[in-house]
Amino acid sequence: MKKLIGVLCALVVFLCAGTFVFGASGDVPGFIRVGVTNVSGSLYYVTFPEGFAVYEYSGGEVYQKYCYPDVTQVELVCEGGYINVYDEYGEELFISYGDTSQYFVGSADIENGTFTEGGRICRGGLMLYRCGSGYSYINVLSLEKYLYGVLPKEMSASYPIEALKAQAVCARSYAAQTVRSGGKHGGAGYDVCCSQDCQVYGGMGCESAKCTSAVSDTTGKLVYYGGVPVSCYYSANNGGWIESSQEIWGGGAGYLKAKKDEFNPSDTWEIVVPDEKLKSLLRSAGYNVGNIQKVQVTKRSEGGSVLEMEFTGDAGKAVIGKDRIRSLFGTSAMRSLKFDITENGYELVKKVVRQPVNRESSFTLDQYYVLDRTGEVMVLNLNEVVAKSLSDALVIKKAETLTEEKVVEERSGYDGIKISGRGYGHGIGMSQTGAREMAAQGYGYEDILKYYFTDVTIQ
Ligand SMILES: [Zn+2]
Repeated sequence: MKKLIGVLCALVVFLCAGTFVFGASGDVPGFIRVGVTNVSGSLYYVTFPEGFAVYEYSGGEVYQKYCYPDVTQVELVCEGGYINVYDEYGEELFISYGDTSQYFVGSADIENGTFTEGGRICRGGLMLYRCGSGYSYINVLSLEKYLYGVLPKEMSASYPIEALKAQAVCARSYAAQTVRSGGKHGGAGYDVCCSQDCQVYGGMGCESAKCTSAVSDTTGKLVYYGGVPVSCYYSANNGGWIESSQEIWGGGAGYLKAKKDEFNPSDTWEIVVPDEKLKSLLRSAGYNVGNIQKVQVTKRSEGGSVLEMEFTGDAGKAVIGKDRIRSLFGTSAMRSLKFDITENGYELVKKVVRQPVNRESSFTLDQYYVLDRTGEVMVLNLNEVVAKSLSDALVIKKAETLTEEKVVEERSGYDGIKISGRGYGHGIGMSQTGAREMAAQGYGYEDILKYYFTDVTIQ
């Protein structure tokens, strides 16, 4: 009987709600699936202050399947390959769907509403997608509102508003292109992850009024090249030269061309890697070259990025290409590929030390002696001799170990390589600090984007 009532309820609700489509506006997809984490849990309590609904996600649009405006709390139970939804009284809502489907639970107001799960307030809805032995925990939300949580993480809110607007259009273009192409993480059920691998997404908790207005002031704006919307790339600092995607990634794109950057501010860094450390880094990366003898840069891009390095040791040679160089040294230590190398940067420093005279010629005396300027040695009887002047004489005291001053050379510095670099990130597309500089000089966000991306339009 309970089941029958449930079916009837679901049917009534379904009929009442109809299937609403929330979709794209122009070339901007309406919604995005953001992978938050991997989970193994099977029970989730979710609160929906604006009421609850079930949706299906498809290519940047969401379709409302069932709507329960009066239900504000649900339990999601993952069992036997299905996800069942119960209300707060434990009554089945008869919404059961396969866990690799694109169904998800969300606020009845999917564009503006929120939900709370595990103490965290999020926008939109929650999808659980079977992935390996666990689930991908995915936040499905309006793409524009997703940008509210990207901007403060990708650019400081203290930057001028025009720089923030340029960043908003870049982040939107990247997200839109990723959704259109089926998602960078499509196999795990979502479009973008929330780390630097895609764009950092900090959730609703990190939103700031200034960043939000940079997004809303540019609503729907994308970067176009040849009349087609394109993905945008950016990095913190390009070291003074905008890199081409052709040279760095190997895929040419007409709008990602190389040129000198006259706005990018200087940003230098340095790391020192001793020979032993370098040897072990190479070994962990699968190269056994033995004791390091020579380190060379063998290929560079036009703008100075290192594309290939050669390490020579007494047991062999390793040639490492651009895709593995930063990970070899650690991507946070090696902030970019624009660097120079100095080998064996130690120097010999002269230093004066006092040390015992050669042990074989040292001796201990049992009397006092005086050596006068003629070289004659006399035994000194302290009771009888009154010295007129001792300035020309060496007085040798009884029982003294003789020491002498000596100049020695000591190694100072490092034994290995010093890497002196500039810039932070891949250097392709927009330099974020360059955008800040342009905005400070009075350029608008469209000028900034057109400076960093060749022959593009913003619309
Ligand atoms: Zn990613």
